[in-house]
Amino acid sequence: MIIDGHTDVLWALKREMRPFSEESEIGHVDLPRLRKGGVGAAFFAIFPSWSDFDIYRGVDQWFKLIEDPNNQLMQIKRVEDLEKCRLENKVGAILHFEGSGGLDSDLMNLRNYYRLGLRSIGLSWSNVNKFATGVSYNPQTGEGLEIDRGLTSEGRELVKEMNDLGIIVDVSHLNEKSFWDVIEVTTKPLIASHSNAYSVCGHFRNLKDDQIKAVAEKNGTIGLNFCVAFLHSEKKKEVILLEDMRKHIDYIVDLVGIEHISFGSDYDGATVPDVVKDVSYFPILVKHLEDNGYSEEDIEKISSKNFIRVMKDVWN
Ligand SMILES: [Zn+2]
Repeated sequence: MIIDGHTDVLWALKREMRPFSEESEIGHVDLPRLRKGGVGAAFFAIFPSWSDFDIYRGVDQWFKLIEDPNNQLMQIKRVEDLEKCRLENKVGAILHFEGSGGLDSDLMNLRNYYRLGLRSIGLSWSNVNKFATGVSYNPQTGEGLEIDRGLTSEGRELVKEMNDLGIIVDVSHLNEKSFWDVIEVTTKPLIASHSNAYSVCGHFRNLKDDQIKAVAEKNGTIGLNFCVAFLHSEKKKEVILLEDMRKHIDYIVDLVGIEHISFGSDYDGATVPDVVKDVSYFPILVKHLEDNGYSEEDIEKISSKNFIRVMKDVWN
């Protein structure tokens, strides 16, 4: 079973006006393709979630999706739900906010959304909000811009409250200063749900070696992002190889071990390589890992067990 740490399918369904339950020619994710890909559960991002309106709209869309029996989804709120989901042959869906800007400073909505099953938040998308600072970039050039601001005092309170409630802190999209502030404040494992290794591909959305080590020291995990620009600095989607994807996994495994790498595809939110052109292609990547020295046990850890460990530590 695969747990995908980041899917933007909610955003894509709205944008592309296609149903989740039917296989589509467009986009990357729908129920039939998740089934073919062997994906047992995924973190479904509400994006954007920068304003309270974004969140109201996104959560409403989320519940409509979950409540429609044709979609064969089950909301995952506890680790035990994963097993229930498997037995009932459903696909597990974990509610994730990509950005925290739409939450109030008193964190009343945070607690209410926890009650509705919110289990993971990326503190900021690539922008600035009242809690945290994302990696920002110049939209003209695509170059990263380092802003000298990390978590605000409200952001520190947000991390503490997430730790207390049992909501996973996701550091993907944060700038370095915010990242290190989270490391200082959090008492629980964290994830970088969809980020790669900067030493392999020097993109500002990827993690430097000391950041990868810090995620590992907190007993967290990093989801391999399939976004072409974060995998290889020159190659286009037509020519990226499975090897180019594996390089990031190999690198992280060499640096911190097999316990801290997972999948966070970013399907429906990024341009992905042709070799893994939609979510039904997961088994091809898994086979490639098998053919290149990864044992069955290693693959189970990458596919699901590393995420399950973090869920147990944070949620339960
Ligand atoms: Zn993202």
